[in-house]
Amino acid sequence: MASETDKQVVTRFAPSPTGFLHIGGARTALFNWLYARHHGGKTLLRIEDTDSKRSTQEAIDKIIEGLDWLGLDFDEPPVFQSDRAERHAGVARQLLDAGHAYKCYASPEELEDMRAQQRANKQPMRYDRRWRDRDEGEAPEGAPYVIRLKVPTEGETVIHDEVQGKVTVKNAEIDDYVLLRADGTPTYMLAVVVDDHDMGVTHIIRGDDHLNNAFRQLPIMRAMNEIEGDWPDPVYAHVPLIHGADGAKLSKRHGAVGVEAYRDEEGVLPEALFNYLLRLGWGHGDREEITREEAIELFDLDGVGKSPSRFDIKKLQNLNGHYIREADDARLASLVAEKFGNTADVQLLTKAMPVLKTRARTVGELVEGAGFLFKSRPLEMTDKAATLLDDESREKLAGLSARLAKENHWTIEALEATTKSYAEELDLGLGKLAQPMRAALTGTTTSPGIFDVLVLLGKEESLARIDAQASLAGKE
Ligand code: GLU
Repeated sequence: MASETDKQVVTRFAPSPTGFLHIGGARTALFNWLYARHHGGKTLLRIEDTDSKRSTQEAIDKIIEGLDWLGLDFDEPPVFQSDRAERHAGVARQLLDAGHAYKCYASPEELEDMRAQQRANKQPMRYDRRWRDRDEGEAPEGAPYVIRLKVPTEGETVIHDEVQGKVTVKNAEIDDYVLLRADGTPTYMLAVVVDDHDMGVTHIIRGDDHLNNAFRQLPIMRAMNEIEGDWPDPVYAHVPLIHGADGAKLSKRHGAVGVEAYRDEEGVLPEALFNYLLRLGWGHGDREEITREEAIELFDLDGVGKSPSRFDIKKLQNLNGHYIREADDARLASLVAEKFGNTADVQLLTKAMPVLKTRARTVGELVEGAGFLFKSRPLEMTDKAATLLDDESREKLAGLSARLAKENHWTIEALEATTKSYAEELDLGLGKLAQPMRAALTGTTTSPGIFDVLVLLGKEESLARIDAQASLAGKE
């Protein structure tokens, strides 16, 4: 028989679909995915859509799309929590029948009075268990009731969290919270526990904002374990949240927090975000660049840090630059072409990519770098570029054009040799000649190496751009 330790690892990601896939959620999903993959287990997706007012199909689609983009796949179709309300209610009834839960008939007004008094007496605001030991017969006929969990009042609950270590809470501090509302609908707290059990989840890896919930969720599991067995405590790993550069919890005011914004606006590649999120709160020595395969091999919970990590866009961009340099040219070309509204020549972009990607940290920078390829004549000049083009430099460009026109081998080496000898003739440094060339050829003052530019544009277009400027000499 398989012992407890041989049991297959099952993890889950359980987003509430109220918006896009948040960076923090993506990291939680990643850690769950990696843990399962590392241990040869399963990882599951549960959509916690019980809050029908806030959950939307659009959010569900976006979350799934974001996970997919990051390459995080799941081993079974998603479970929708809202489909399972009957099962959740059934467990509440089981707990009630076995004496682990009770009916509470306190009306909302009564509870409001109770809280007002607690507030006035500066007591902790907590349900005072007024119906815990009361006889149901005392309730008015047909009065509505909720079902509350009978949490042990003595002793304490200890969790040996894989990240936080040993955490202890006195049971008296855990309230007898509601499992089933008066309208028969289950509460979130109950739903999570029942779903985790029914999905066979062995390891709960999530944000440490849920650590308090663990102490409320465990009593349900333990009560059910007493009733029917086979409701083992899961292993918990509560991961510190991600903070912004100022040390406050990452939120919209720090900038983009949705995965899709990193894809669409920040021009980040999925493998870069994957690597960055992995390093955000988990480490393996001082390794920064870790591929997906290595991550699966190396990931474990003991590498997860105890303190919150800070989101650093610069680090993400640097990693992204690394992955851009590693990425296939045709793939990058099609990403860049998309940004040009798919009107750009993908083949030309692919040819340009080895040059463009040496410096770019984002897809946006690739797009910017590629801009000169698709400009039409007369080129629009940036202000800085315009200042480089005066009569004197235009005359030099005219001379250059005459020499380049004779060039039969439009290669970097040939073009460099010709340009250099012309610069020497003019008694100029190559840089001085390259400046107006760059302005004329690209309309800007920053571009890939000038001979790369010439080769990528081709002879005809290069000469046309140079001539367009040369012909303006003495006319402005
Ligand atoms: N649905 C919860 C959230 O999005 C997660 C619950 C859990 O992981 O237990 O924060």
